[in-house]
Amino acid sequence: MKIIVTGGAGFIGSAVIRHILQHTSDQVLNYDCLTYAGNQESIPAYLTTQKDAKTGEPQYQFIKGDICDAELFTALLNQYQPDAIMHLAAESHVDRSIDGPALFIKTNVVGTCNLLECARKYWLSMAEERKSTFRFLHVSTDEVFGDLESDDSKFTETTPYAPSSPYSASKAGSDHLVRAWGRTYGFPVLITNCSNNYGPYHFPEKLIPHIILNALQGKPLPVYGDGKQVRDWLYVDDHAQALLTVVKEGNVGETYTIGGNNEKQNIEVITSICDILNRKVSAKPDGISDYAQLITYVQDRPGHDKRYAIDASKIANSLHWQPKESFQSGIEKTVQWYLDNPDWWQRVLSGKYQLTRLGDSQYHETL
Ligand code: NAD
Repeated sequence: MKIIVTGGAGFIGSAVIRHILQHTSDQVLNYDCLTYAGNQESIPAYLTTQKDAKTGEPQYQFIKGDICDAELFTALLNQYQPDAIMHLAAESHVDRSIDGPALFIKTNVVGTCNLLECARKYWLSMAEERKSTFRFLHVSTDEVFGDLESDDSKFTETTPYAPSSPYSASKAGSDHLVRAWGRTYGFPVLITNCSNNYGPYHFPEKLIPHIILNALQGKPLPVYGDGKQVRDWLYVDDHAQALLTVVKEGNVGETYTIGGNNEKQNIEVITSICDILNRKVSAKPDGISDYAQLITYVQDRPGHDKRYAIDASKIANSLHWQPKESFQSGIEKTVQWYLDNPDWWQRVLSGKYQLTRLGDSQYHETL
């Protein structure tokens, strides 16, 4: 397959691309405008320089482009001729959406609408055989469903939408557009709604990397409110595997909810990280014998959702996908990855990752 991944320099998009390059012979093109969240260093050079064994063509290409740019994206579709689009480009941080919602509407809603229109026109121009197998996978979040009380049953594919934050409202809007394009135009869409991801190459503004890196630097470990908010954590490589399964084997028009079956309170996540670091790190910051000493309660986020939980039985039963990692195994791997890869996160914290962007591929110049 030839796959375009939008947002492939982000946390989940880069995991999807690493998965494709490591485990398949598919060709992949990363279309990303490189916001602060885009980091080309999240896909190691030994993978991006791989060539197809038979044709000698590069297996990976990168185009710097905005999902709101219809002209560039249309030219790309016509030249690259993809079999599928996996749409992950988005503004994704809830706190940033509270500070500045307009960008979330532009990227997540208007950008998705633009991609749908460009992709639909490309799809209409395809030969019948390829047209019937083309897929547009829209990657979304469980946050579109709002939140749950502790005794409510988990989110499923039929849970009504009730988003709480500007971020989740913008993702809900984009989901509705994707479904409408499927229903109105017969465009072959699939949607996934996933729970919180964690793992390697996660931008340090998000909870788990933020806690690991603050702890290593002897800084306070901020806990919103009482820390009892519950999230269902999924290891990012398990999500990448699920997304590839859906794009290749999912039924057109269907939605799949994806989760790790790992409900944890935020405070439990933070204390697990402290326990692992206590075991693994002998040279602790000055005055610290237990990383939990750094835990500091701070004012809660406005509109903070209490609990998310996913029932992932549909994807398990129909597509035979199951997460491989438990929370314990995944968080151990994640903490170890941050200990082993200070170059990656130090360049993110210092902002250097944005100064040394790798050049756009030659392919870009021919568009
Ligand atoms: P991320 O913020 O790490 O990455 C987003 C990527 O999109 C970045 O590389 C950024 O440069 C790119 N991008 C942003 N605006 C763009 C634009 N206008 N044009 C082109 N590229 C643009 O996000 P993530 O955590 O990898 O999430 C990916 C997708 O998965 C998002 O749609 C998000 O809503 C969804 N999701 C995330 C989680 C999670 O826990 N992180 C869970 C469920 C669903």
